[in-house]
Amino acid sequence: MRNQVILVQKAPEKSTVLFVWFNQYAGVMLKTPSKTVAIDPVDIKPKNLANVDAILITHEHYDHLDPRLITETQKETSCTVIADSASAGKLQHAIPIDKLQRVQPGVEIRIGEVSVKAEKCNHPAESPVTYIITSEDGVKVYHTADSLPFRELAVMGQKEKFDVVFCTVGIAPGSTPRTGFEIARLTKPQVAVPYHAYSVTDQTQFAQIIKEELLRTQCLIPEQNKIYQVSKGK
Ligand SMILES: [Zn+2]
Repeated sequence: MRNQVILVQKAPEKSTVLFVWFNQYAGVMLKTPSKTVAIDPVDIKPKNLANVDAILITHEHYDHLDPRLITETQKETSCTVIADSASAGKLQHAIPIDKLQRVQPGVEIRIGEVSVKAEKCNHPAESPVTYIITSEDGVKVYHTADSLPFRELAVMGQKEKFDVVFCTVGIAPGSTPRTGFEIARLTKPQVAVPYHAYSVTDQTQFAQIIKEELLRTQCLIPEQNKIYQVSKGK
């Protein structure tokens, strides 16, 4: 494990969120003015999760679900764990029953004033989901897990008006910079973030396609373990 300390301690200003991408997969730490949420934490030290209010798991694959890390973190922080059905099944004996929320597409959970809504995911796992996270002041982040594009994304994009969408550009079966771009094209966020990547080359290619074909979306290529701030779009 080569991760640096990435405790996001600074609270974001009103109508902004902070995020950190902390592994080469879908590991994202998200901080709203009131809550800290870690999504698919693997390859990260427990101490970096010391502030979390909730952990979100998208599916049971090893690069997304680390039961030991979650169990340890949940004991320390007493955070809520929100997980797809297969992952929840693997966690149910380790997490107190009132702290484990099993979700499927369409289910919305509240963490204080922050909303987490599970949506469909197009990925060969048992019961994968993606998550729409809406901050208390309306910043909308869409974590698409390892998903390939799917038709309903277009309607979701229109309805939700996403500020940030995380797009898989590699590693997962069938995923490429082009499929990642397709997710951005369908969801039309203010900011598209390429992640789940073999290399920065995949991310750069994604950025290039966005620049040529999706004029109103800005691409943010994250470096791992750096803090980024995103504001609510107008
Ligand atoms: Zn993955």
